[in-house]
Amino acid sequence: MAIKQHMKQWLYATTVVVSASATTSAWAEDAHSYAKLDEVSTPHLELDLTIDFDAKQLRGTATYDLLRHGDASQLHLDTRELSIQKTEIWVDGAWQETAHQLGDEHESLGQELTISIGEESEKVRIHYATAPTASGLQWLTPEQTKSKKFPFMFSQSQPIHARSWMPIQDTPALRLTYDAKLHTPKGMLAVMSANNSLSPERNGEYTFSMPQPISPYLIAIAAGELEVKSISDNVAVFAEPYIIDDAAWEWADTPAMITATEAMYGPYRWDRYDLLVLPPSFPFGGMENPRLSFITPTVVSGDRTLINLIAHELAHSWSGNLVTNASWRDMWLNEGFTSYVENRIMEALFGERRAVMEQALGYQDLLDDMSRLAPKDTVLNIELGTRHPDDVFSNVPYVKGQLFLMYLEEKFGRETFDSFLRQYFDDFAFQSISTAQFKEYLARNLLAKHPNVVSMDKVNEWIHQPGLPEDAPKPASDAFAQVEKQMQRWLKGGQLETADWTTHEWLHFINSLPLDISSVNMKRLDEQFQFTQSSNAEIAHAWLKLSITKDYEPARERLRNYLLTIGRNKLVSPLYRELAKTPENLKWAREVYQQAKPGYHPLTQTVNEALLYPEK
Ligand SMILES: [Zn+2]
Repeated sequence: MAIKQHMKQWLYATTVVVSASATTSAWAEDAHSYAKLDEVSTPHLELDLTIDFDAKQLRGTATYDLLRHGDASQLHLDTRELSIQKTEIWVDGAWQETAHQLGDEHESLGQELTISIGEESEKVRIHYATAPTASGLQWLTPEQTKSKKFPFMFSQSQPIHARSWMPIQDTPALRLTYDAKLHTPKGMLAVMSANNSLSPERNGEYTFSMPQPISPYLIAIAAGELEVKSISDNVAVFAEPYIIDDAAWEWADTPAMITATEAMYGPYRWDRYDLLVLPPSFPFGGMENPRLSFITPTVVSGDRTLINLIAHELAHSWSGNLVTNASWRDMWLNEGFTSYVENRIMEALFGERRAVMEQALGYQDLLDDMSRLAPKDTVLNIELGTRHPDDVFSNVPYVKGQLFLMYLEEKFGRETFDSFLRQYFDDFAFQSISTAQFKEYLARNLLAKHPNVVSMDKVNEWIHQPGLPEDAPKPASDAFAQVEKQMQRWLKGGQLETADWTTHEWLHFINSLPLDISSVNMKRLDEQFQFTQSSNAEIAHAWLKLSITKDYEPARERLRNYLLTIGRNKLVSPLYRELAKTPENLKWAREVYQQAKPGYHPLTQTVNEALLYPEK
């Protein structure tokens, strides 16, 4: 056991030293972390935590292996709102208490924790507890779950929230493996972004191991009344009982998605790929926690039309989890590549027509975002300073990044570009890289091998200039052109032929309705297609947004209910933003918000309070 442990350490030590020389500059550039990886890094973590639902608190220890790159005698960690009880170092075969210090609190970065580690110690152990307000955790009471039997809790560590539930070198430039022990009340199941048992005994004691080095923002935890249902040999769904069968049905194509992605970009390297359904308050569509993606229930639509979200989270197993952005300024390396791969998976499984519709919907979202963003925030390699990455979250790294890769594919041809990408995933597997490293790699392995196709000036325009280059792809769908033709006919009193329309066509239809549409026509549509009562969360969202603009009163109660029951930020914040435009609607929105707030995730609260209470 001890020898094995030692070998493992040695193995990852080598990995880290190699990437240390390659990414020293990237390490120095992460403005969102106090870690000094070039002095000491932490290649392995052991967590031992009690999940205390009454106190809304995680409590226990985080133990790190230390890897020294010089003769530094201090370890620098990130924390936010943590109580640090005691710090120890492992010296001469025993734990020995050591000094630590918490720095001043920074609004977006939290507090630096500095621990004296002496010259010789190989490990450090921190005894700590989280705050009930930890920004990376959400705690739901039993009443806030469907069956109301057990409480539920989950983490969302990306981008810089891991530090709110463990002291950690919270930079994506770090890669570490982890083991964990979790203690919960009996009858509940805890899961992590690690190896999860498919037939767990719910005795309140759970152990996990993540043997592949990942970045801190990918460490994830959840606990609740969870059941397991297998979709295939290597894919299973974890969910509360009320939704487990529906989710397993909805995502039946996941194994085929894995096969399709492997054919394009090389092997899936994470053993199993499981999916966890979170409560409706989960602030994102999905989070690509390795081996166990966390997914919003709002994409369980009953018609399998929103499964591009699963393709997206799966794609992160290559772009993001395997090859990782070294800082949040490089986020487009995660999200742009993933949006591109997601769309290629959708094309492989469902054909070009659907893939292009999804491109066109994403393109429209990008244009909407770009119209309200400051030009400097439409740059791929964005200048963040120490602004919180959540404050500048937009479609830019996703869709502009995707358009850049589509542009490269168009210029070099699919075959050439696919083999370039496949090699890229191989060459940087289990490494964190910066935009500068990517550019250097692109110049050497694509541009130079096929001269006079795309210039470095053009690449720099894409990566460092605001807006879109003039010759950027402009995805347009024939199917959507047909929808627009039909709409024109309908506005003049004709009928709609919608028998073969999917969610995509409906979304485009609603989003393209003229803003001066009459209330008579709103009512006519609603009566015929029941948009106000749509159980498809995306269609309901698009309709409710329009209903605010149009003061369409019959949708008001549904809007209230929607805002009270869904906490996915992409679905609620555009509605609050629209409501904030008139004093009367703003007053109404604040009332609803105050009622909804206890059920919202801290992140959803922060974003929407900025919209509803801008003076704060
Ligand atoms: Zn993503």
